[in-house]
Amino acid sequence: MPPTKIVTRFAPSPNGPLHLGHAFSAVMAHDLARANGGRFLLRIEDIDGPRSRAELADEFRRDLAWLGLEWDEVPAQSTRLDSYRAVSGRLSQMGILYPCTCTRKDIEEAGARPGPEGLVYPGTCKGRRVDPAQRAALRLDVPAALELTGPLTWEDAGAGVQQADPLALGDVVLVRKDLPASYHLAATLDDAADGVTLVTRGADLFAASHVHRLLQALLDLPVPRWHHHGLLVEADGRKLAKRRGSGEGGMGLTERRLRGDDGRELADALRRYQFPAGISLAAS
Ligand code: GLU
Ligand code: ZN
Repeated sequence: MPPTKIVTRFAPSPNGPLHLGHAFSAVMAHDLARANGGRFLLRIEDIDGPRSRAELADEFRRDLAWLGLEWDEVPAQSTRLDSYRAVSGRLSQMGILYPCTCTRKDIEEAGARPGPEGLVYPGTCKGRRVDPAQRAALRLDVPAALELTGPLTWEDAGAGVQQADPLALGDVVLVRKDLPASYHLAATLDDAADGVTLVTRGADLFAASHVHRLLQALLDLPVPRWHHHGLLVEADGRKLAKRRGSGEGGMGLTERRLRGDDGRELADALRRYQFPAGISLAAS
C-alpha cells in the first residue's frame, strides 16, 4: 500500500480574534502536512451559539492567508448538526449516555475534584430519573463505555504511545443542553469525516484526546495520530488568551496584519521558535 498522506487541520472557534498561539498552531499543522505532501484543512468550529460570529471566520481566513498558508476548507460545524444528532442517537441506544441537569454551581457544590479540564463531574445524575420535560445535557458513562471497548491506546508524536485514560476527565458531556454536540463529540466526528490523520493542536487539549480515542473505539472511527504542541505563554507564565488585548502577546493577528506587519516573516519566525519579546514556549 502507498504510504498515507498526512492530513492535518486547524480548527478555530470564531468567538474571539486569533492570537500568536493560533498562528503557531496553524503554521505547525500546515507544515506537518506539507512536509509530507499532505493536506492542511481549515475547519470553523462555530457551534458555540451566540458566541460564534461569522465575520470573525472571514478575518481568520484573511489572517491565515497573510501568514502565507494555503488550506482546503471543510464544512463548518454549524452545517453538521444532523450528523451529530444521528451519532448521539446511536450512543444512546448503546445505553452509555445519561441525562444530566446539573448547573456549574451544582457541580461545584457536589464537591467535584479538579481534573485536567476543570472540575470532574462527580456523577450526580447517573442512575437518577430525570423528568423528560427538563432540559438536560447527555453525559457519557465512561466506565460503561470502557467496558464495551476494553483498554485503548493512542499515539502522540512527542509523548509516544499513551494508555487511554478517559476516566481522568470523568463522565464528559457529549450533547449540551443547548446544542446537539459538545466539543468532544463534534471534533471527534469531524476529524473522522474530514479524513484527518494527524490531529495537531495545543497541549492544553492533550487530556481531551483520551476521550476522543474512546469515542473512536465506540463508533468504529479510524484512529488518527496526534501531535500536541507546546503553548505560547506570556512572561508571567499565563497562556495567551483570546480576549486579552494588551501588549505584544495580547495583540491579535488581525491587528498585526492591519498595522502592516509582514505575516510571512512572522510565520517564519514562529517556525524558528522566535517569538516577540515577552512570549515563550511553555515547558510541557
Ligand atoms: N475549536 C477549538 C479551539 O478553538 C480547537 C479544537 C481542536 O483543535 O481540537 O480551541
Ligand atoms: Zn448532573
